[in-house]
Amino acid sequence: MKTTVIIGNGVAGTNAAAALRKNGYEGAIKLVGEEAALPYQRPPLSKVWLSGADRPKPTLLRSLSFYEDNRIELMRARKVSQIDRKKRRIRFSDGKTTKFDTLILALGASPRRLDLKGSDLKGIHYLRDLGDSTGLRQALISTACRDVVIIGAGVIGLEVASAAVDLGKSVTVVEAAARAMARVASPATTNFVTQQLTDAGVKFLFNKKIEGFDTVDHRISSVNLEDGTQVKADLVFAGIGATPNVELAEAAGIECDEGICVDQDMRTSDPDIFAIGDCANSDNPFAPGKMRVETVHNATTQAQIAAAAICNKERPIPVPPRFWSDLKDMKVQAVGIAAGYDLVRSDASQGSPSLEVHLKSGDRLVAAELVNLPNRQSALAKAISSRASPD
Ligand SMILES: Cc1cc2nc3c(=O)[nH]c(=O)nc-3n(C[C@H](O)[C@H](O)[C@H](O)COP(=O)(O)OP(=O)(O)OC[C@H]3O[C@@H](n4cnc5c(N)ncnc54)[C@H](O)[C@@H]3O)c2cc1C
Repeated sequence: MKTTVIIGNGVAGTNAAAALRKNGYEGAIKLVGEEAALPYQRPPLSKVWLSGADRPKPTLLRSLSFYEDNRIELMRARKVSQIDRKKRRIRFSDGKTTKFDTLILALGASPRRLDLKGSDLKGIHYLRDLGDSTGLRQALISTACRDVVIIGAGVIGLEVASAAVDLGKSVTVVEAAARAMARVASPATTNFVTQQLTDAGVKFLFNKKIEGFDTVDHRISSVNLEDGTQVKADLVFAGIGATPNVELAEAAGIECDEGICVDQDMRTSDPDIFAIGDCANSDNPFAPGKMRVETVHNATTQAQIAAAAICNKERPIPVPPRFWSDLKDMKVQAVGIAAGYDLVRSDASQGSPSLEVHLKSGDRLVAAELVNLPNRQSALAKAISSRASPD
């Protein structure tokens, strides 16, 4: 019997296991992850998990019975330390090994760390997993925490800022770029979102770089900016992006370049090894050139593509990338990739905070962004799909 081993039991790895069975894969499936918890959703970790009144519980990707019913061997709290491509086996950190015929790398990404003196001080937080989120929540709800500084106005930084103002904290977001969410959304949307968050009490400092930190009793007391400004801080959250977990693949001689390089079937430079989700760098029919996309939708889509290829099934029809975020009272959604556009049409409603933005290249819709208009997303995805080349 053939064996597929999946390293990484996040949304990409777990969906790959499910999609293999859906495609009729009869072999053994081993789903390996270094975390001890049952596979869970990450999005709530920067949203309800932080500011919700009740003690949060992880939102599971699947119930335990799903893995049993589908003969998916769940190997939790197992870190893989090596891929031996010659012997077709992986080695765990405890020295044990397991064989594979096909390997899927669903390794995710890790928060980028601040490269500054004092970056490891107590009071500086990062966010990727349940443990990080629990620590951040405890620090945020503490009455000793009054002043929160968020470094980085990316999506996760803004979500943490929203949670912190909901908890009544004084919140300052410091961003090196000229605007928020610059990597993923158009200025029309980010300006709208920034205004709403400003109205809710979040202070933004754009075009500002961090120089370092001051401490009192080994705890952070302020964030110091290069222009001499000191921002009072009891808690600092650094949301400055994530780097793909490529070390295992690189050490095994698999081609990597800003992520694990894959073809349209998510195959790496080794034909029996696939890579999906946050760690994979792939061509995207809806974007100019190769890119890594860090969204649940991308991880799920790539899991289905890899499973279809492994099962010799037709490649699923490409669908435009999507992401969502919850910021204060705003449901922010995007379809397509906000790149390569030359025209922006934006439509903001008066009064209630909602917005629809179309990003076009000539008369072709390349991406759309929505605030509080969830019913529009499918129609816009269809419009983007119909103009994209299918291959
Ligand atoms: C706080 C937060 C909020 C987010 N909110 C949103 C949102 O609102 N909307 C959205 O679309 N996306 C959101 N995202 C992004 C989305 O969650 C990710 O794109 C998605 O989780 C990627 O899935 P993945 O399976 O590729 O990686 P991951 O979920 O990171 O899973 C990879 C797994 O592999 C394991 N692993 C890595 N190396 C090894 C090893 N050597 N041995 C064993 N196991 C290993 C890791 O421990 C991890 O559990 C959010 C992400 C975070 C962190």
